[in-house]
Amino acid sequence: MTEPRKRLTSPSGKDIVLTAVRPNAGVAALYTKRLTKMVDGMHRAVLRSVRAIYEALPPELAQDESPAMALANEMRRLARKWLGRFEEEGPKQARRFAREAQRSTDASMAARLRDQGFSVQFKVTAEMNDAYQAVVAENVGLIRSIAEQHLQRVQGSVMRSVSTGRDLETLAKDIEKRYRLTRKRAGFIARDQNNKATAVITRVRQEGLGITHARWRHSRAGKQPRKSHLQADGEIYEVARGMFLDGKWIRPGEEPNCRCVSQSIIPGFE
Ligand SMILES: [Zn+2]
Repeated sequence: MTEPRKRLTSPSGKDIVLTAVRPNAGVAALYTKRLTKMVDGMHRAVLRSVRAIYEALPPELAQDESPAMALANEMRRLARKWLGRFEEEGPKQARRFAREAQRSTDASMAARLRDQGFSVQFKVTAEMNDAYQAVVAENVGLIRSIAEQHLQRVQGSVMRSVSTGRDLETLAKDIEKRYRLTRKRAGFIARDQNNKATAVITRVRQEGLGITHARWRHSRAGKQPRKSHLQADGEIYEVARGMFLDGKWIRPGEEPNCRCVSQSIIPGFE
């Protein structure tokens, strides 16, 4: 079902600049909570298993397998198991997040329009479905990568520990450290994906409403703003193309850690 291209125009004849739609912090917080919960579960179970495997290792060489080999095999099994769990749970969480991001972006966009006297009812268009599927696919991959990267690093720590004399407490500390980094990464992914999803959904809605131009708004919330984005603040860009910054065409909120937003412009004449 394709939305009819009704083009919004300003009744006064003067351009209307809508308040920007910002990424919903509540959506990011919920997504962070769910991802970190998955990470917490994996970490606790993996650490428990590593301890058990370690303690069960024979002090000397086993008959047909060296302890290092046995350990490597156990670690591979453990990694496969947890990767499998993330692969199973990932699509559910990705879809849930994409739905929430879409709902909240739509609601915010509709509210901005209502503020200016426009009443719109957003529908699930083919373009919106494409955007939704793309958000889901990217997040499925990222969720999987959280487990994959974490398990790879833990496996590395275990093997290094074996080759340097098997000190379980040092190893446990290593794994804890890795866990804190993985948790941080999950939080970053949740926030960043929320910015990106908001950006892409906003763009699809702009196009659906026939909004061809928007104003780039730099957000001061970031700790290390990109100079180019700072300079783009207030500039008008074409919704279909974005703005040419740092060598490529991008839209606000699309680059990693970019919190820039888009102010839709409703033109004053056809
Ligand atoms: Zn930015």
